Amino acid sequence: MALLQISEPGQAPAPHQHRLAVGIDLGTTNSLVATVRSGSATVLRDAQGHAIVPSVVNYSGDGSCVGREAQQYALTDPLNTISSVKRMVGKSLEEVQGQQGLAVKVATSSTASSPRLHTAAGDVTPVEVSAEILKELRSRAEESLGGELVGAVITVPAYFDDAQRQATKDAAKIAGLHVLRLLNEPTAAAIAYGLDKKLSSGDVDNDSIVAIYDFGGGTFDISLLRMNRGLFEVLATAGDTALGGDDLDNALVQWIKKSAAITELTEPADLRAVHAAARSAKEALSSADTTEIKLALLSGAEINLSLERNQFNELVEPLIRRTLAPCRRVLRDAAIEKSAIKAAVMVGGSTRVPLLRSLVSEFFEQEVLTDIDPDEVVAVGAALQADILAGNKPDAEMLLLDVAPLSLGLETMGGLVEKIIPRNTTIPIARAQEFTTHKDGQTAMALHVVQGEREMVADCRSLARFELRDIPPMVAGKPRIQVVFQVDADGLLTVSAIERESGVVASIDVKPSYGLSDAQIEKMLLDSMASATQDMHARKLAEQKVEGERVIEALQSALQADGERFLDPDERAQLDSLCATLKTAIEGDDADIIKSAIADIEHGSAQYVERRMNASVREFMAGQSIGNVEESLTGRPEKT
Ligand code: ADP
Ligand code: MG
Repeated sequence: MALLQISEPGQAPAPHQHRLAVGIDLGTTNSLVATVRSGSATVLRDAQGHAIVPSVVNYSGDGSCVGREAQQYALTDPLNTISSVKRMVGKSLEEVQGQQGLAVKVATSSTASSPRLHTAAGDVTPVEVSAEILKELRSRAEESLGGELVGAVITVPAYFDDAQRQATKDAAKIAGLHVLRLLNEPTAAAIAYGLDKKLSSGDVDNDSIVAIYDFGGGTFDISLLRMNRGLFEVLATAGDTALGGDDLDNALVQWIKKSAAITELTEPADLRAVHAAARSAKEALSSADTTEIKLALLSGAEINLSLERNQFNELVEPLIRRTLAPCRRVLRDAAIEKSAIKAAVMVGGSTRVPLLRSLVSEFFEQEVLTDIDPDEVVAVGAALQADILAGNKPDAEMLLLDVAPLSLGLETMGGLVEKIIPRNTTIPIARAQEFTTHKDGQTAMALHVVQGEREMVADCRSLARFELRDIPPMVAGKPRIQVVFQVDADGLLTVSAIERESGVVASIDVKPSYGLSDAQIEKMLLDSMASATQDMHARKLAEQKVEGERVIEALQSALQADGERFLDPDERAQLDSLCATLKTAIEGDDADIIKSAIADIEHGSAQYVERRMNASVREFMAGQSIGNVEESLTGRPEKT
């Protein structure tokens, strides 16, 4: 009988046994699968030699098909052919319905959090459609590698939120794939390039900053990364996932309609045909100076046009220039000068457009890098990472860091946001901060987790709410409540709270039912910049209000306890009037007025406070008053 082999989790059971793992670029438009064979990463091709699997699924009466085959149906059976499903994954019904150019019908069986699409083979969810694409990639991999996969690294756009990441994992599960890790696409591209450069004598040094510019079919991402001996640190990311090659196609469709004097394109098949023609023309113009667009429509109209690269450039230049705003933003976020960027890497099929290359080169003031096939680079990087995570390279030193795209924080008194993890913090990360109670005898604390850049809760996105209960009654400010925010490597957040004196704990995993669209994230970021000054005022006002209320409460509870003992009626009346003035100031919206009313009270009550001190009532306050509080009080955390 053979001896049992014992191995550590994550380690290969035998030193020479290679564990089959793949990297998957699950794209909006195109998907690819790659693996590491004999030490180098290669994309896996079908029998015809195609590496790219179009992210298209057709559902007919007798089953489904994926990729190139499904793409054929886009023309003949558009209503049952689903493309760009990545734009719908992890989105709400409302968001899906708001999407334009959807050929398939949203099914009536949909619910608000789970949109379904109507097909001849029954209603399907976007996650299920995604799973079909993953299944196709999985079987391609298992066929060509000749065995079962231990797992996959799947890439997602940097701006994917919790819900979208979770939905991607769900799709993998349905496809029978074990997710070793979700990886941001630009980071994957950097891994591919970093290793490539390390091997060559290259123009990229160690410890240098690179920009990853990814313009695909449906998304745009820009990331700044610092590379240092196999360690990639994402310094900043930005993007616009509602901008891609599809938009170039759309601009060209408009031009075709105008030039061929077509006023209406109602037939879905005609619409698809014109789109397909526009895309081919666009792709042709990346290598040719001129191209022909010839098409006969079902409606009888004929299209016979010729298009020059210069004309095309004019049509798409505004769209390409739109990518430069996020480029500026990452430079600002990372506080990096353009001159510090050692390389600008081109990723995504659309970066083949010559005008794009020259505009981006101009922006970064250097020739952009295009050495690795822009279609394959993300899958290749993911494959390299998968190889390490599967335990095939136990001595690999490559560690990977990513960033949180938006700040994560907690609501504090006055509707303010206390940011615990600032935007662009590298993840995985855990950050703790201590809070305390606002009221004497407060026994519960309401924790409200928010995401966003603004100072006020009302302007941020609510992620989750939970309560920390059974805090032993103490004077306000005495409990020490430690709140920990933890973001794992996949970008998923867990928040926990513990009261240190008593040890009571509470925690929550943040998995919102549906997340923010990329456009919403963009908007939140832009809003936060536009309203920075306004927010500062709002924060100052809210802080003064909280402070004012605290002062009133403290004074009133003291007055109730021993006002008569230490004050004559005149003094008492004066304090009451100062108190009333402060109350009125708090109702208003001038922080300075509140501040001076607080100062007046502090000044006006100085003698009273002194008398109380002398009578050592401090002890009394700490000991007695708390015992009298019977009700359980819930309040927001207060900064310590
Ligand atoms: P995604 O990451 O969104 O799946 P890809 O990186 O695969 O997208 O890029 C797909 C886009 O690239 C499509 O819009 C396609 O038309 C465009 N594309 C592919 N080849 C070329 C080319 N030669 N010239 C211009 N655009 C191209
Ligand atoms: Mg891509």
